[in-house]
Amino acid sequence: MLPLVSQKKIWFIKKMNLLLKKIERLKNDRNAVILAHNYQLGEIQDIADFTGDSLGLSIKAAETEADVIVFCGVRFMAETAAILSPQKTVLLPDKEAGCPMADMITAEQLKDLKAKNPDALVVCYVNSSAEVKAQSDYCCTSSNAAEVVNSLPDDRRIIFVPDRHLGQFVTEKSGQDIVLWPGFCHVHVIITEDDIREAKAKLPDAIVMAHPECTEPVKKLADELLSTSQMLSFAAKSPAKQFIVATEIGIIHTLKKQNPDAEFIAASKRAICPNMKKITLEKVAWALEDMQYKITVPEQIREKAKRALDRMVAILPTG
Ligand code: SF4
Repeated sequence: MLPLVSQKKIWFIKKMNLLLKKIERLKNDRNAVILAHNYQLGEIQDIADFTGDSLGLSIKAAETEADVIVFCGVRFMAETAAILSPQKTVLLPDKEAGCPMADMITAEQLKDLKAKNPDALVVCYVNSSAEVKAQSDYCCTSSNAAEVVNSLPDDRRIIFVPDRHLGQFVTEKSGQDIVLWPGFCHVHVIITEDDIREAKAKLPDAIVMAHPECTEPVKKLADELLSTSQMLSFAAKSPAKQFIVATEIGIIHTLKKQNPDAEFIAASKRAICPNMKKITLEKVAWALEDMQYKITVPEQIREKAKRALDRMVAILPTG
């Protein structure tokens, strides 16, 4: 007779295998594609057809022949997929998976801000609701925010929403006069200067990669300011073998998988997005089984939001 611990382990492995087979079968039956953001749990990233950042994933899904998109991420990401793929069914496996930063500005608040700055152009970070995108002139990602702003006429004031830290980064890079909305990502602002210093004390030769959503003092201590997709490509090309990662810890799963010879440590183990971690394998199976939770964007909002995304794509390639 096997010890109880071993029996439990075997039972768990059998259960997981059954669950993975079920997801695979349902995915084929539904002609679905599974997308996982870089901040998802490792086991979710492992079953995904594509992993990446929110816009890159939505673009990839739009290019597939799939009828159904299961977006393992948060609501604004599923909305972005629905904006780009109106003919596909977009499912968010947990309907409560939202983004507190995206929720920090409503379309009404943006309308008021526009009324106070009538000549300004609005650039919204992709981490925003479909309604806010629809009220914006341009969309941007953390990879291309500075390039989008730099491409705009010098004599126009710019409103940037909702993340003030990404907005501050863009202000410094572009030298433009930008009206910033005071939004922030609670996961990135939890990372402190002391966290970076302590991590540097452990790995003095490591390269510090920080996301532009981090606070300004943290960004000052970083060697590289990079979006999640830029972190992945930077680490793959870099001759360095040690990295301190100042963003949501989920990305370390993919960084380690893609660079098995390198060492990656989280700048802060507290940098966990509870909304991203709401998606589990069971919920992915239920989403495919029950075709829930469908994320739709009303057509008049979708058209306007797509215009802001299209304008960004027209300026430069996404990445
Ligand atoms: S990590 Fe921050 S920006 Fe991303 S979903 Fe979580 S709260 Fe929103």
